[in-house]
Amino acid sequence: MSINCELKVEKGLPSEIKSFIERYYSSILEVQGEKYAEARWDEIVKLPSLVFYRIIVDGKTVGWVTINKSNSVIMEFFLDEGSKGKRIEPLFLDKIIEEHKLVAAELPKGDSEKYELLKSFGFRPTREFMLYGTPMVRMDLSTAIYLEKLKGMKGVAYKGKEIVGIEKVVETQTDDEIKRSLENLIDTLGGLKNFVKRGQTVVLKPNLVSEHGLKDGVKKGGVATDIRVVKAMVELLNPVAGKVIIAEGSSLNRSETMKMFTHYGFDKVKDLYPGKVSLVDLNSDECVEKTIPDGRRLEKRSIPKTLVDADVIINMPVLKLHFAAGASLGIKNLQGSIPPLEKYKAHFFGLWQNLINTYKIIMPQLIIMDGLYGQEDFGPISGSEKKMDLLIGGTNPVAVDTVALKIMGLAVEDSPPVLMAYHESLGPIEWDCIEVRGPSINEVSQPFKRPLINLDNGKCFKIHDGDACSGCEGYLHFVLNKLRRPDPKHEGQLLIDRPFNKNVNVFIGPRSGDSINPDETNIFMGICQQHHADCGGSHLPGCPPHAEEIINGIFQFYKDVERPKYADKTEEAKLGELLKSILDSQKGR
Ligand code: SF4
Repeated sequence: MSINCELKVEKGLPSEIKSFIERYYSSILEVQGEKYAEARWDEIVKLPSLVFYRIIVDGKTVGWVTINKSNSVIMEFFLDEGSKGKRIEPLFLDKIIEEHKLVAAELPKGDSEKYELLKSFGFRPTREFMLYGTPMVRMDLSTAIYLEKLKGMKGVAYKGKEIVGIEKVVETQTDDEIKRSLENLIDTLGGLKNFVKRGQTVVLKPNLVSEHGLKDGVKKGGVATDIRVVKAMVELLNPVAGKVIIAEGSSLNRSETMKMFTHYGFDKVKDLYPGKVSLVDLNSDECVEKTIPDGRRLEKRSIPKTLVDADVIINMPVLKLHFAAGASLGIKNLQGSIPPLEKYKAHFFGLWQNLINTYKIIMPQLIIMDGLYGQEDFGPISGSEKKMDLLIGGTNPVAVDTVALKIMGLAVEDSPPVLMAYHESLGPIEWDCIEVRGPSINEVSQPFKRPLINLDNGKCFKIHDGDACSGCEGYLHFVLNKLRRPDPKHEGQLLIDRPFNKNVNVFIGPRSGDSINPDETNIFMGICQQHHADCGGSHLPGCPPHAEEIINGIFQFYKDVERPKYADKTEEAKLGELLKSILDSQKGR
């Protein structure tokens, strides 16, 4: 028999909550009963962003949920004794997620019943802290579970229409042709005057992720934002803007952004406009701490001052695929706009959500996407270039990314950050809310070859994938690929097939690990596997864990093999330690 469960917002502060809190906390072991209940009540009374929901089943109130809407953390939930165990909990949790998206919950560590309930739903213990002398645990909803739920969920109806311009560039792609197309595109969007006023400081944020777009003098399109597009943008801005800053914080070559500028010739663009154009390394820029509006997973982010002080920010991503994020477009491009520790934190606390968090703070006014060449297959750096002769532009990141995905033959569901941004009402994906100007998507679309993710087992190396999202799957594939090469110790064999005394099991996704064999070697990956962190073996923190973390976790079994390099190893190790010390210092509140 189906249960009819509703949530009703209660205006004001419901007095029943207080007695629920008192009864609940006096029933939990390890909680200092009355004292705790009183302190918790005081906290609740003072929090203006708290929402109280009455849980109603068949017209009768059976419990309460209180959630802090500014960070989507469920502070408390209670059910009447008689309503527990009747499968009401998953129903109201689903409704809370529909309303508050990627939620978390706080609970006393001693409440094993609530812990197990949340765990079976898909929450994972991510942090312990003390509250009024009581050990507490924070549980975050697995992003993989959240993404599953989003697939069947409709977003809030978008009001209005977003314009996305597509401009075909003549296939010879001369500087003049590119500039003319860029001008046309901006005119399509209302003209430069719509975005930049005389004398303003404009920041251009290209994608210069790494040096892979130019190796040994050979250019590979679709990796870095084409310098010709950035140069054309500077030329258009020159008569109007007071200052133009080209700013980037390279993701792979973190300590080398300035080298990346020179590598791709951006220093020459700067020299063409002395005193007007400058280059800024966002990885080493002074930062300002900003509160994220409705921030989930993190509530604050440190943002480079250059971006905070800018009058106008123009986001200039590349039309390319990404082995883990599905695609690296407008939303993903801002990962390069935050300093290294923030990049590391984004991975640690949940990359998809933190891309959205970052976007919400920086909010570029204009997106000009370089689609002269796209990158298919194993983007963002190791794929193949695909000549597209396109520029795509708009002001809304979700609308622009939706159009770009469609041009590449992908759906919004293929890119978690775009899907999640839509559900956070950052923009529309519905075609009746997006006006495409210029050639139609059908005219310019060319399906991009998708990367083939191979998580096949080795002889003793077993992958247990329980519905992981593309994050863990993509990053694990990246590292496993390094094992799919000849084993110097065993002729004719691959490293992944190397014999071990015990099987090495790698568990990924929220639904793997039901049959952990403690006598074998076990690796648990990411927040989805955080509840197994104490089951013996190693846990690789993050969501998805940073490639460097996975490399360390896996290559510990191949001590004789040189570890592959992802980003700068020493820099990464420093960031990991720094974050750990920050988290340790935040254990109480
Ligand atoms: S831990 Fe991995 S599988 Fe789970 S949500 Fe994060 S990236 Fe996806």
